[in-house]
Amino acid sequence: MSFTVAIVGRPNVGKSTLFNRLVGRRAALVAPTPGVTRDRREGEGRIGPLRFRAIDTAGLEEAAPETLAGRMTAQTERALAEADVALLLIDGRAGVTPADTFFANRLRRRALPVVLAINKCEGGGGESGVAESHALGLGTPIPISAEHGDGLSDLYDALAPFESGARAGADAAADEVLRLAIVGRPNVGKSTLLNRLVGEARTITGAEPGLTRDSIAVRWSWRGRPVELVDTAGLRRQARTTAPLDRLSARDATRAMGRAAVVLAVVDAATPVGRQDLAIAAQAIEEGRAVAVLLNKWDLVRNRASARAAVRERLDEAFAQAKGVPVVAGSALTGAGLGGLMPAVARAFDAWNRRVPTAALNRWLAQAGAHHPPPLAAGRRLKLRYVTQVKARPPTFALFVSRPAALPEGYRRYLVNSLRAEFDFPGTPLRLLPRAGRNPYAPR
Ligand code: GDP
Ligand code: GDP
Repeated sequence: MSFTVAIVGRPNVGKSTLFNRLVGRRAALVAPTPGVTRDRREGEGRIGPLRFRAIDTAGLEEAAPETLAGRMTAQTERALAEADVALLLIDGRAGVTPADTFFANRLRRRALPVVLAINKCEGGGGESGVAESHALGLGTPIPISAEHGDGLSDLYDALAPFESGARAGADAAADEVLRLAIVGRPNVGKSTLLNRLVGEARTITGAEPGLTRDSIAVRWSWRGRPVELVDTAGLRRQARTTAPLDRLSARDATRAMGRAAVVLAVVDAATPVGRQDLAIAAQAIEEGRAVAVLLNKWDLVRNRASARAAVRERLDEAFAQAKGVPVVAGSALTGAGLGGLMPAVARAFDAWNRRVPTAALNRWLAQAGAHHPPPLAAGRRLKLRYVTQVKARPPTFALFVSRPAALPEGYRRYLVNSLRAEFDFPGTPLRLLPRAGRNPYAPR
């Protein structure tokens, strides 16, 4: 077993249920410790090919129920100390409670990476919890149902990067399914594009059920890479499974994006591009997806240079967090210009999956810090100590700094932009998380 996951959260969110699903009969009881109401359970967790050691902390937090602080006992702390990643579970149906916020705050202060999962989301439930939990600042929440086994593939995606010796970078991405959502306002040409992409693909395996009952996925292969189109309005219309949907509702879009790695935002280049046109794509970036843009109906555009400049401006505004989003101009109707579309999508996918070796990151950090030194805080210069990539999808970096709370947002943004320029990350959001203390990952 290559890494350890501690399942944490307030009572009743479903920790034991999830533990049972991941570990099943392979659980072992660890002898109870005085002051702990239940035995601690641990065992070999499995999701698909992934193997890890899972620790269930259910019951531990009940040791001192009188205070909120008492819920996170020394036992939970010990489980966290042994863990490579904390899996914080929240009850999506109950929403985010003060106890959840308490756990989140405690976890955020540690150098330990956190995966945030929202439980009880079966049947589209728990959406309020998913929406609220963004505010916890622990990254993109993953909707799951421990009881029904939904969302495990997303959990797999979130945990897989922690596997030691995991195949890294683009090589691994190349044989992984590239899950793509096509989004955009009605009439921009999504269905036309879909037909063209799928119509040209000889190896299409047909519509097949996706991860949930009501989703549809179409798979094909592009230059030997498996691609799956997930749940878009055009896809549904095509498969005629539900009543005709002529617009992609915000809810559908959110659901499709939850499963997509890359969100392709289609805009109509023949009409002025407004803020609304890119709202869904901007949301996708917020949620940590890679993004590419198709300026469709390019055949109708007369003054192409000025159209391109106008759109570029809009994009930089909408995607301040992800500069350099790939933009392809073309025509879904005629096929002209679409040759660059899938390569742009694949590049964004590879960037989203990328892992940068720690040594290269720290060389970059030293240079970036020398080129533009960090500011003073209370008369003393902040020290940039160490940086390491804690996960991919999207690339997320922990930056160890003398006083993380004093690191100005402007300087953090400078570092993100510099990181993007140095290592070439087109179309993916990058997360840089300031952390206190020294490097906890360094070999002792
Ligand atoms: P723990 O205290 O965090 O270990 O929570 P449990 O695993 O004991 O679960 C608490 C309650 O939530 C139980 O009644 C479970 O049946 C229920 N529960 C767990 N997972 C799910 C889920 O995915 N969906 C729903 N609806 N209920 C769940
Ligand atoms: P959706 O609502 O986003 O799925 O849009 P559709 O694919 O249904 O397209 C809306 C209309 O735009 C249809 O009449 C299409 O023929 C037309 N259309 C789509 N792509 C293009 C294009 O690249 N150029 C032109 N001129 N028309 C297009």
